[in-house]
Amino acid sequence: WIHDYHLMLLPAMLRSRRPDLQIGFFLHTPFPSYEIFRCHPNRVELLEGLLGADLIGFHTSGYLRHFRSTMLRLLGIESEINTIPTESHNVTIGVFPISIPIDKFEQQMQSASFKRYLQEYRAIYADKRIVLSVERLDYSKGVPRRLDAIERFLKESGRQDVVFIFISVPSRENVSAYRELRQEIELRVTNINGQFATITGAPIHFIHQSIGFSELCALYKLADVAMVTPEIDGMNLVAKEYIACQDENEGALILSEFAGAAQELHQAYLVNPYDIDRMAHALGEALDASASEKRSRMKPMRERIKRYHARRWAAEFIETLQQVAAPHHGFMEPGRLHAQVLRDFWTRDHAALFLDYDGTLMPLHRNPADAVPDAAVRNLFEHLQSAMDRVDIYLTSGRSPAEMERLFGDYGFHLIAEHGLFYKHPTAGEWVKFDNNADLGWMSRVENILQQYSDMTPGSEVESKTASLVWHYRKSDPEFGRWKAHQMVDELHELLANLPVTIHHGHKIVEIGSMLVNKGAIFQHLKNLNNYEHTLSAGDDESDEALFRTAGSNDITVKVGQGDTNAKYVIGSPSALRELLAATLQHG
Ligand code: UDP
Repeated sequence: WIHDYHLMLLPAMLRSRRPDLQIGFFLHTPFPSYEIFRCHPNRVELLEGLLGADLIGFHTSGYLRHFRSTMLRLLGIESEINTIPTESHNVTIGVFPISIPIDKFEQQMQSASFKRYLQEYRAIYADKRIVLSVERLDYSKGVPRRLDAIERFLKESGRQDVVFIFISVPSRENVSAYRELRQEIELRVTNINGQFATITGAPIHFIHQSIGFSELCALYKLADVAMVTPEIDGMNLVAKEYIACQDENEGALILSEFAGAAQELHQAYLVNPYDIDRMAHALGEALDASASEKRSRMKPMRERIKRYHARRWAAEFIETLQQVAAPHHGFMEPGRLHAQVLRDFWTRDHAALFLDYDGTLMPLHRNPADAVPDAAVRNLFEHLQSAMDRVDIYLTSGRSPAEMERLFGDYGFHLIAEHGLFYKHPTAGEWVKFDNNADLGWMSRVENILQQYSDMTPGSEVESKTASLVWHYRKSDPEFGRWKAHQMVDELHELLANLPVTIHHGHKIVEIGSMLVNKGAIFQHLKNLNNYEHTLSAGDDESDEALFRTAGSNDITVKVGQGDTNAKYVIGSPSALRELLAATLQHG
């Protein structure tokens, strides 16, 4: 279980050396929005490092959302709310808000030293209301603005019965920015005390050192108000510790909206730490609240912390890791395509292999023109060529005949282009159009609609094929593009309800094609024509599902990647499929 941002590269490093490990990663800090994360010079390496994990945990759903949107925008990876698919495995992502060991605080509050401190401080502050702040002295904790709010509160209320105790734990003192911050804060404190001190006391007690546990618990218990106003904070445990020590529900918590804890502790007096007026006002509200008001806010927060404590947090993370990690590596689990299926297939007579290309043999590329067969695919093709005396090999694609010719013309495979509209036999010179009678009168009307969407969606474009139209939005803003695509699909379903067309929303495309032309139709046609007794087909998207749906009992069908499918087997990625095909040919 790897902890925190310092080690973001480690999951992938470990994964490459020990693929069998179950690897969890928890981020204790916020995950910033894409606009911030994109500035990091090593942004891609950091994300790829994280993807070595099986499980990545965040404190809040907001950080998880930032992470997903950053994945999408920087790596082009579309994720589900709880999973990120990668070439080798699924990465589970989840929200696990860290908490505190509440039993430790409850035990401490029974101790003699706690009671001694409490009694002593009570006597000292007998005629005062106490507002407590506890934090490392760090620029994220919002101390200067909090001091501004305190100054405004003192000025406007004229109150002399309130004392502000700052426990400011020294942190990173060898870093000059921290030293400067300390000087700035001490100057502000002196200035405020200068304005509002009386002969008998000063409003702010600024303590720049760390204190012992029982002393800390006594202060938490004693404080009428805890003021926790970081400008940003992954979680903030001080807020939860204060609640833990409010065993009589008498205190009040002022909490920054920008602390992760605010997601859970919404009964607190929530403030925007940049809004000085609101913070000053919240101080008055919290100090003047009635006992019943304070109780009704504090009680549910305490109950939550009692239920969801540190041990529960750790146990839930570990349990989730154990559940998700095991099945994601290797192909041997039930339901997954395994080597024996392929070994059997290679021994069959009258057999044919139908392989889709994009997303099945080759990972999807941002620009389809870049997805030319690489060394790994060419290597597989050479293996497949060695089986051609026994098995007919078909490459199927949504690409045009010309493109298929360019990419695969040299291998001697059967080629099926435009999802089944065109077919070319290895020894024939010409492509054959599969269905000449298909009614294509709808195309010009649909092309106009697609063009309108294209105009409204920067980065998208319309491709016109012989029997289909494709709207590509791969280069558009991913979220906007997907939203427009859904809108388009809804509109087209209504408009084209009575026409012989299929609308298919695939990977960053919407394709409108003739219903009479699809991979399933040509698959059945070729199977009957050649009397294939055994077939194996693999594909990754909705156009391949059309084939899977028509498959019979002797047809083996394989879905590559995630998602619902009509196929009999699934396999995780193009590389996994390629490796299994090549390995079984080598040894079979
Ligand atoms: N703390 C401490 N010494 C002190 C006062 C507080 O160690 O003198 C502890 C405090 O009890 C809390 C932690 O420091 O557990 C601060 O954690 P938090 O999540 O609030 O902030 P971080 O320092 O992680 O940014």
